[in-house]
Amino acid sequence: MAAMGKHVVAAIDIGGTFIKGALVDLSADGAIIWSESTPSHAAEGWEKVVEATVSFSRQVLAAAAAHGGRADLLAASVLGIFDEERGVAVTAANIDWRDLPLQDLLSERLGVPVVASHDSIAGLAEAVFGVGRGARTVMTTAFGTGIAGSLVYNGVPYRGAHFMALEIGHLAVPGFTERCGCGGIGHLEAVASAGSIGRRYRIAAGEPAESGSDSRRVLELATAGDELASRIWEGAMDAIGFSFMQCVTLLDPDVIVLAGGLAKAGEPLRSAIESRLQSARSFQRLPEVLISTLGDQAGVVGAAIAAARKAG
Ligand SMILES: [Zn+2]
Repeated sequence: MAAMGKHVVAAIDIGGTFIKGALVDLSADGAIIWSESTPSHAAEGWEKVVEATVSFSRQVLAAAAAHGGRADLLAASVLGIFDEERGVAVTAANIDWRDLPLQDLLSERLGVPVVASHDSIAGLAEAVFGVGRGARTVMTTAFGTGIAGSLVYNGVPYRGAHFMALEIGHLAVPGFTERCGCGGIGHLEAVASAGSIGRRYRIAAGEPAESGSDSRRVLELATAGDELASRIWEGAMDAIGFSFMQCVTLLDPDVIVLAGGLAKAGEPLRSAIESRLQSARSFQRLPEVLISTLGDQAGVVGAAIAAARKAG
């Protein structure tokens, strides 16, 4: 393959189940020119996750060298709470690390600079190369097992004092009593994540709590007129609409990007949320509500943008 040069960045995305790796061409709208993934071994403890990350990152850097990209820099997106100033993995729901200096550790083991970001860096990809492109204030919400949020203003992610800003999933929604993974009651994540919509329906329908109908199935059933499924789906949409209206009032975004597994529902999800915002607004100007087109590549692309900016 022809030499690609400095604008092709090696990036990894450490998740609870898989570590994704990719070569991201920042001169071609963040196009992925190579990708691979490997299990993260989260259940076996953080040492195993670090081992898996190091050996997989070597593969990704070797691919960068083979494709004529940068083999002298690794971009990383890290799940959970991540302190980007110190490069420290603070906590994660599925990995037992605590205040682990992951960035330095990886850099020492790999022999190249590593620029690691909180996984909300996916929102930067939406703002730079995705449907948020050209907008000044881009709020992204990813609905998966949990709910993650981010805000990019003038091309820069807003982090907060402790890298905990935009934890939209932990906004409390009146009228709901579900317990959240964080211990709180009635949090959006416990009601309206893809995982929660499936689980709430399964429990209400008497299916096993851990497997059976998922959020996609709940939407299908609701569309077909199933009363129970409609109640769960519409309740989740109400909860999202309520929470987003709070965000709109506070942040006045130009665009809200819907991402994560639930966003695969597409238009029914988008229009359900948009109509809630329309009926809840008083003086507020509403943002455009759009479905992500980057999908699960947003993490590696966002990490690559952040790393290239930092490394220069
Ligand atoms: Zn919570």
